[in-house]
Amino acid sequence: MRLRILSGLGLLAAAASLTGCDSQPSTVKMADTKVDAAAKLKAAKVAKAQFAAKVKANELGQIPVLMFHRVIDKPGTTDDRTPQQFRADLERLVKEGYVPITATEMVTGKIDIPAGKHPVVLTFDDSSPSQLTLNEAGVPAPNTAVAILKDVAAKNPGFRPKATFYVTRDMFGKSAREEQAQVLLWLKDNGFDIGNHTRDHLNLRGRSHKEVEEQIGSIAKEIHSLSNINPTTIALPYGNQPSKREWALRGGKAYNHQGAFLAGYTPAASPFSKAFDPVGIPRIKVMEKKGDCKQFCSEAWLDWLKSNPDMRYTSDGDGSTVAYPKFKTPYLRKTFTQWSLPY
Ligand SMILES: [Zn+2]
Repeated sequence: MRLRILSGLGLLAAAASLTGCDSQPSTVKMADTKVDAAAKLKAAKVAKAQFAAKVKANELGQIPVLMFHRVIDKPGTTDDRTPQQFRADLERLVKEGYVPITATEMVTGKIDIPAGKHPVVLTFDDSSPSQLTLNEAGVPAPNTAVAILKDVAAKNPGFRPKATFYVTRDMFGKSAREEQAQVLLWLKDNGFDIGNHTRDHLNLRGRSHKEVEEQIGSIAKEIHSLSNINPTTIALPYGNQPSKREWALRGGKAYNHQGAFLAGYTPAASPFSKAFDPVGIPRIKVMEKKGDCKQFCSEAWLDWLKSNPDMRYTSDGDGSTVAYPKFKTPYLRKTFTQWSLPY
């Protein structure tokens, strides 16, 4: 009996204490929740940093931006690749843990690839039909660059079929506006990126501001009217910058670019690094280690990045953070402080 009374009292006491808890000043409660949330956030950040360290993330590291031109059976210049060479180029990237991102994703810092992987940007200049020709059903012709890229991606899950096409008035060899629109829209619908390569492929060095604006603005306007795409980046013909480097980013009032790509000779800085220069982003010609390409083309640089992994961009798999070894902190661009994850 006593016991029962006691337990009854105990229940009452428990109920009272619950009420008591509820009647605590709300500021105390809020402070508690805040402390709790902050602790949780801190723990999550520690876990993220530990994971970043485990996969050796280095999101301030360098990114190879590869420059392709035509993909044809009988190369006319050392800029061209045969379909077999191009397939082998891609297979090497697969084997070494690279995942393609677009030039737009790179310059806007939207690099969302799995942990431990390295971004690579595949760029194609001059809008040649060897890069993309579609049949009447909208299927890329065999042995075009896009067909090979899609095939390699299908055989290697995780290797994204992403690339950036730098377009001139050549428009993949199409002259009818409807056909030009078909190719651009196909690229857009299939997740490819379209960039500006000036209307007439002019060397912009030494040209007047007006001429530079006209060359950049007129093709941007044309691309927009055909496909409703506003190119985010530009590749400068011959890699030559105009008298004022900043002119490369503007094609009149309506057309602005966030990055201008050159035609040589090193891997590019991470967009999160102070070394990143949006007005002059280097690219690498795709070529074996011979002749002029002994040191500064793709085979040489991919070898170098492979043997210098602490210089190469490696992802932590989290698109919302910028992870890197703490030692590299002084190189972080201020704009990305909020997302930084040093370890
Ligand atoms: Zn070109």
